[in-house]
Amino acid sequence: MNTTLSALLYLAASVAFIMSLRGLSSPDTARAGNFWGIAGMAIAIVTTLAQPNMHVSFWMLLAMVIGGGGGFYIAARIEMTALPQLVAAFHSLVGMAAVLVAVAAYYSPTSFGIGVPGAIKTGSLIEMGLGLAIGAITFTGSLVAFAKLQGLRSPALNAMPMQHPINAALGAACVVLLIWFCATGSEAAMWLLIVATLLMGWFLIIPIGGADMPVVVSMLNSYSGWAACGIGFTLQNSALIVTGALVGSSGAILSYVMCKGMNRSIFNVILGGFGTDTGAVAAGGAQKEQRPVKSGSAEDAAFIMKNAASIIIVPGYGMAVAQAQHALREMADLMKKEGATVRYAIHPVAGRMPGHMNVLLAEANVPYDEVLELDEINRDFAQTDVAFVIGANDVTNPAAKNDPKSSIYGMPILDVEKAKTVLFIKRSMATGYAGVENELFFRDNTMMLFGDAKKVCEEIVKSMSGGH
Ligand code: NDP
Repeated sequence: MNTTLSALLYLAASVAFIMSLRGLSSPDTARAGNFWGIAGMAIAIVTTLAQPNMHVSFWMLLAMVIGGGGGFYIAARIEMTALPQLVAAFHSLVGMAAVLVAVAAYYSPTSFGIGVPGAIKTGSLIEMGLGLAIGAITFTGSLVAFAKLQGLRSPALNAMPMQHPINAALGAACVVLLIWFCATGSEAAMWLLIVATLLMGWFLIIPIGGADMPVVVSMLNSYSGWAACGIGFTLQNSALIVTGALVGSSGAILSYVMCKGMNRSIFNVILGGFGTDTGAVAAGGAQKEQRPVKSGSAEDAAFIMKNAASIIIVPGYGMAVAQAQHALREMADLMKKEGATVRYAIHPVAGRMPGHMNVLLAEANVPYDEVLELDEINRDFAQTDVAFVIGANDVTNPAAKNDPKSSIYGMPILDVEKAKTVLFIKRSMATGYAGVENELFFRDNTMMLFGDAKKVCEEIVKSMSGGH
């Protein structure tokens, strides 16, 4: 394949990736976005394999079949609730690939056209050093994020005393080693840099609280993009440079959007330990509330809903666990038939990943114009008859507004308590992900509907339909 044609095809692949990102920005165009992504990747792979200096071997094809087959198998079977850890696990592979490519280029510089052994061009050393360092941090950081999101427990995942000063010292060591490697191309510097950045990735993520994992996963997503971009320069592959930069910048923008959603800075996330286990025990475990709560049945809920003119549904992680979105939509359809206005309020960090709730509601064919973001709908709770909170907890917790000691203090929340009646569907009085007791459960205008979200919705539907 001649260079002009391959440049054009790489350009086409890059445009397809941009179209993919554009499509993925909204649930109604997400499928088309995925298609563009697949098309772009297919063009990029075929073009790369057709390069004149490419020797396509059996092993390469085998690796592609194993990797592609494995990815397809996992993606087809993964539970929606486990997607965040899957994303983290996949990022770790991108990080590892960046490290391995840099090491391969170091030991075989002639095949990469970047110099000869012992005399690699300084520009290439800088690209390799950056790709390698960011890749190694992404690799171990993503493994820790995976373990935390998967709920795995191990002493290796616990922060050490003086973790932040240790991290600062390690960070300084990484910078010195990177400069040493770029200036001399020393083999010892490369291996020390790999070890130091692997440790850095691990230590950087272990003190971060569980409730901050969405930001961390998207930050690591951004890192993996920049690592790929660095490697793109080493391999002199324009498609990889563009794709890496797209992933790097979109991940960075997503992290920013999430930090804004939680009203925190990225430094606060990295240094904060928000939603750590200690916080959970202090807030939820040690001082368990003994006050009475008002609980009701599905029939009670159906009665309240039938008499409501306006309802705002607030979905959260529990809706995803119960896969209650279809039953929920059926219930909403019935309420609309009764003449009520039904809308959905989405908190930016509801569920376990950005857009989690939007995807589930789209899957159940909930009309997009009924689904509103926090800023668009928060003021309306005060004029609403029923706030129907289904499997959400932290995103409604007023401690974020009025308890400066709470670990979620400062996070914007949905003001569900301003509605005339708040119905909470959850299985127990347990705390949410951040481990903070929710005072709303004890309020006079709250009724708890204990049970699995899907089952309770189905019972409400039955009760409402039975009334006709
Ligand atoms: P929460 O984790 O605060 O609460 C979910 C609630 O759902 C739990 O209290 C649980 O209570 C209930 N629940 C679980 N299973 C079921 C079920 N089968 N049926 C009914 N209820 C169920 O979720 P939110 O969505 O309110 O908040 C998200 C939290 O996750 C925030 O702290 C956020 O920071 C964090 N986070 C967000 C990410 C994102 O990007 N969106 C990623 C990672 C973390 P019970 O056990 O009593 O049923």
